[in-house]
Amino acid sequence: MPQGIIAGQELPPADDARRAALLQSVPETDDTTPLAAQLAEDARRRIRLQGAKFDKPAETRIFTIANQKGGVGKTTTTVNIAGALANGGLTVLVIDNDPQGNASTALGVDHHAGVPSTYDVVIEGTPVADVVQECAAIPGLLVVPATIDLSGAEIELVSKVARENRLRNAVESYLSWRAHEGLERIDYVLIDCPPSLGLLTINAFVAAREVMIPIQCEYYALEGLSQLLNNIELIRGHLNPDLHVSTILLTMFDKRTNLAREVADEVREHFPVETLEATIPRSVRISEAPSYGQTVLTYDPGSSGALAYMEAAQEVAERAPRTNHHTNAASAEEDNR
Ligand code: ATP
Ligand code: MG
Repeated sequence: MPQGIIAGQELPPADDARRAALLQSVPETDDTTPLAAQLAEDARRRIRLQGAKFDKPAETRIFTIANQKGGVGKTTTTVNIAGALANGGLTVLVIDNDPQGNASTALGVDHHAGVPSTYDVVIEGTPVADVVQECAAIPGLLVVPATIDLSGAEIELVSKVARENRLRNAVESYLSWRAHEGLERIDYVLIDCPPSLGLLTINAFVAAREVMIPIQCEYYALEGLSQLLNNIELIRGHLNPDLHVSTILLTMFDKRTNLAREVADEVREHFPVETLEATIPRSVRISEAPSYGQTVLTYDPGSSGALAYMEAAQEVAERAPRTNHHTNAASAEEDNR
């Protein structure tokens, strides 16, 4: 494989040389001027990441972004990783599975009451193709919006046939339908979950193969995590043997505080393989972007927050999906296909 500056990316030699020259031109700094050092580092990251293209995965990767704890960055992570993967040339589907509809807001898609949405897919059996919208700002990014209607779904699901499998069946039908229609294959599906373990979240765990857990680098960060892992284990045992935690992302990381560093160290100690190298800084730009119906990637592409999400997405794309511990040799082979 030709080695560009960015692993996994096939840059033409001229581009390679241009990037190298640009990187060289960024002045060296030392610890005496932290602000200048930060600016120089961001400039280098921008040069490395600009225009980076990601390899397509061997098959569609389906992630659930979950953490029962509220406000840890699930939605922010969903929309920005999805946006960065799509900017990297991949076809990405975001399913907003949270009645709050925050992912739909951040991606600027219509989601007022009555708009065809995840509710229709899960409750009425409406095909995904009939409700999906395009994110105008990011080509290649498709969105199934969530409206307030979804808040009733938890209760309505109880009496439905195959109530835990409805989202999985809908996603599988959509992927096959696209193949049949000769449409571009979806490379990534990212499902944003509410901060609870109701039937909506269970549907997402059954539909996905991989779980991405955003962890906020603050006190109590790890509380509730063992409960989440137990729940995933239960789902794996009863409903979806393929499910595994493949990715952990440290969010709202403030490297200046000891606490954030301690939490990060502890998470890495417990999950050395799953935790991404990239961490997401606490950033005003990240928190402002949704109020403009945007991801931080379009709102302020050069900001530290946007760069961090691009780096995280690049790592996700470069990691091959891990085989499940409980799979036998035959299905392990299938996993690697
Ligand atoms: P919920 O559990 O309610 O669904 P969530 O886990 O989806 O929440 P987000 O909505 O992504 O969390 O983030 C919670 C709040 O923190 C939001 O206001 C968001 O804009 C802000 N936020 C998320 N990530 C960052 C960050 N890196 N820096 C600053 N603010 C952030
Ligand atoms: Mg959310």
